[in-house]
Amino acid sequence: MKSTKELEQLLYKNETVADKTPSAIAEADAFCEGYKEFLNRGKTEREVVQYSEELLVKAGYRPFTVGMELHPGDKVYHINRKKCVLAATIGTKSLSEGFHLNIAHVDAPRLDLRPVPLFEKEGLAYFRTHYYGGIRKYQWPTIPLSIHGVVYREDGSCVNICIGEKDDDPVFTITDLLPHLGAEQNKKTLPEGITGENLNILLGSLPIEDEEASNRVKLRVLGLLNEQYGITERDFTSAEIEIVPAFKARDVGLDRSMIGSYGHDDRVDAYPALMAEIETQSPAYTSVCVLTDKEETGSDGVTGLNSMYTFHFLRQLCECEGVDYVTAFQASKCLSADVTAAYDPSYSEAFEPDNGTYAGRGVAIYKYTGSRGKSSTNDASAELVSYLTRLMNKNNVVWQIGEMGRIDLGGGGTVAKYVANQDIDTIDIGVPVLSMHSPFEVVAKSDVYMAYRTFKAFCEDAE
Ligand code: MN
Ligand code: MN
Repeated sequence: MKSTKELEQLLYKNETVADKTPSAIAEADAFCEGYKEFLNRGKTEREVVQYSEELLVKAGYRPFTVGMELHPGDKVYHINRKKCVLAATIGTKSLSEGFHLNIAHVDAPRLDLRPVPLFEKEGLAYFRTHYYGGIRKYQWPTIPLSIHGVVYREDGSCVNICIGEKDDDPVFTITDLLPHLGAEQNKKTLPEGITGENLNILLGSLPIEDEEASNRVKLRVLGLLNEQYGITERDFTSAEIEIVPAFKARDVGLDRSMIGSYGHDDRVDAYPALMAEIETQSPAYTSVCVLTDKEETGSDGVTGLNSMYTFHFLRQLCECEGVDYVTAFQASKCLSADVTAAYDPSYSEAFEPDNGTYAGRGVAIYKYTGSRGKSSTNDASAELVSYLTRLMNKNNVVWQIGEMGRIDLGGGGTVAKYVANQDIDTIDIGVPVLSMHSPFEVVAKSDVYMAYRTFKAFCEDAE
């Protein structure tokens, strides 16, 4: 028998980045300054895409056009309907040897406005909302909120709206009952305590002067919107307005080791994936970074990964080179990035510690997702896990592997299956998040940086 020391060498160790590669901590701090800027500039998928396009253009990416001549090292991008980014760096190998795909999503849970949102009740004006994605409704009242989006006016012109982000802007909020009158509400379960019909955005309290008029507060709000943006109530029917937390990304903890922000899911993978793509020069395999929309509602729709837009783009790249896309897809690999649930010691009963993924212990691998009996999962092959963990080890990436939590409690899915269903080998990785889907999610900076190192290594892998 081996000695205890030798036997201990045989264990799988789930170590912190700080213990394993202490030098990465300062690098992570520096990297995350750019990430916080990315979070603050992009509170909606449209804003993220707009900022990403700026970064791509600055880095020399050219708009992709069908049939264009492409050479190794060329950088091209395409924006899908203002909500998704596709960026590629052409490799030295033929596309018949496959793409290396890094995919993340840039939509986040939030409150959308309904088509007829504006109303007045007992002298207060509100917007009615319809929540987008999996929110816990009780988390949204009594915090400062901002309004972001686009409105198409009757003449077809478009106006961008963003109120609540500048220091001297007003903010908005959803009210909650005072504890003194909360006896009945307190008897309800968490999902019932605040309902979708309670999630109304407080807009104003000041009536117009004409005492004969009805809905005088609503009319003042509408008048202000009309003065500032030239819009009418009818124009909300052709609008996409999102209500999101008004606060900015902030360092969390005395050691400043974490970032608290709205929208980490999944901008915390999107930013590292985009940075890795931008910084990759003359790769062997053609790298493609996809920042997609609609993950939080199930990936359906023309900007979701269940649509063909990503695969059309890949096919069109193949056509430029005269390569059969089926051959290219079969040879491709994809890192499907999305956040994982960080083990939370305050709610340990929801987790299984041996298979938990922990904030501060590096990028997490989920071999499979899904719920109950792995329903709706892309279950990555052992071969692909082996490829990825060897690549990570070779590039000093601190990684961990696990599952979301206790297996009978629930679960979730990602975009991985939509890529795998196109005959592309795909595996889930991502940054662990505390308070996932809340207005103020928390991640460890070291994990964000390890995600970046992973994407970079994958873009540059030549084997
Ligand atoms: Mn996600
Ligand atoms: Mn999510």
